[in-house]
Order: sequence, then C-alpha cells, then structure tokens
Amino acid sequence: MIKNESIQVLEKKFNENRLAHVFLIETNDKQSALKDVLEFCKLVNCPENYLSPCTKCNLCHLIENDSLPSLKIIYPDGQAIKKSQMEELKSDFASIPYLSKYNIYIIQDAEKFNASSANTMLKFIEEPEKNIIGFLITNNKENVINTIKSRCEIIKANYSEKVECFIDEKVQNLAEEYLYKLEVEKEELIVYNKDILDEKLEKEEYIQLFQTLLDFYLSLLNGKRKFVKLKDNLQLNQETILQRVYLVNEVIERLNYNVNMNLLLDYFVLSLED
Ligand SMILES: [Zn+2]
Repeated sequence: MIKNESIQVLEKKFNENRLAHVFLIETNDKQSALKDVLEFCKLVNCPENYLSPCTKCNLCHLIENDSLPSLKIIYPDGQAIKKSQMEELKSDFASIPYLSKYNIYIIQDAEKFNASSANTMLKFIEEPEKNIIGFLITNNKENVINTIKSRCEIIKANYSEKVECFIDEKVQNLAEEYLYKLEVEKEELIVYNKDILDEKLEKEEYIQLFQTLLDFYLSLLNGKRKFVKLKDNLQLNQETILQRVYLVNEVIERLNYNVNMNLLLDYFVLSLED
C-alpha cells in the first residue's frame, strides 16, 4: 500500500521532535489510516532503525498483531465510545510503558464520543503525560465534539481509490530524466519542458509523471531515496524537499482541471528555482 503523505509529514515531525500529543485524523478510509498509524507506531517504538517491514524486532511484531500492552486500539462499544472504555484506557496508561518508548492509543470513529466519555477523554488529554500519543480517527471532523477537536492537531489523510497505481515504463523513465534535469543539471529547464511536451502525453500520463516526482521527494523525506542515478548527486535540505512536495501536489491538483500544459510545466520549473 502506498502510504498517505500526511502520515509521512507526521513521521517528519516526529523526527524533528515536533510531535503534538493528540492527533485527529480526518480520512476517507479509516482502515488505511489505521494501518498507517500502526506503521507510525512501529517507527517511533522500534529499537532498530525502522524500515518497513521490520523483521528484526519483536516489538514491531507485537504491534502488527495488536498484542503490545502499550498500544490500545479502541472501537465504539455499540453505538458509542463509552465512559468505561475511557476510564480503562486512563488506568492502563497510568504507568509508564515498559516494553516500548510510548503508550499509544488509537480511537476509531472519534465522532462517537458521548457527553460522559468525552468528559473523561478531556481530562485525560488535559493532564498530558509524557510518553503518551493519541490518534483519533474519523470520517468527518465536523461531527467530533468541539471540546475534543479543539485540543487536537488535525491531519487530513485522503486515500485514492486506486491503491496500486500502475505507472508505465515510458512515464517512469521520463520522470527520472526530468528529475535529473531539475535537480542535478539545472539547466535549460524551459527547453526541456518542450521535449516533454513533444512526447504528447495523455493527461493521465502527466498525472503519473508528477506522482512519480512526488513519490521521489517523499522518499527523500523518509530517507529511503529512490532512483540510484540521482543518489550521489543530490543535496536538498528538508525545507526544500517539503517545498517540492507542496509544489508537486499543487501541480497534480491543477492537472485535474483543463490546463495549458505548456504554462503549467513552465510555472513548475520556475517555482522550483524560487
Ligand atoms: Zn522493529
């Protein structure tokens, strides 16, 4: 599965020690979001240098099987998340974790707090303990009780319907070539745009091209760089990489409308240089 980029931003924050202690994840796919959060749990807890999939440690194995004591996944009990569930969580997490670095709870269907469970939850959030990280997952943050929502850092994680996106070889090669021009040679980019236009790609292929670029920049963020050709030639700091991620995202969004490709590609390469 392709990880959602929002979750990768979370990883980045964690690596920079900028982690909030409760997150509200609004998503169109709660199962995928849960899977990604579990990946994140492995990343922060793994005693090895975590690389997915981790085959080295027992901790990742326990997380995978939902049998780590310091990880609680809570689902609504019937129609609501109940006060007793929150009280149980509170007492479970009263002690510091002994197997892992963090106590982590994940609450599915965060819109299903009722007044009394929300109250207990609030007290829990307001007396933050070190070593506790919480994730609330919902389809629609507007349905989550305001007092809880306002104390969370909100993350949007949308997953495309196509889980596996097939990118054909021509587009893949073109994307690698483009990256090389953009990031290594850095010359005559406007002219090179003309070469790309000469390929007469379909709109869908342009989207794939930029998704490949996005994938590449994200792979730099989590330290797993793709494309051997670029490996030794590339010096980008984290801030630049993030700017690239936002820019490429913007281009992909614009591609969904009728755009003049010539102008869009030129806008892209000119923005890169800013
Ligand atoms: Zn591990």
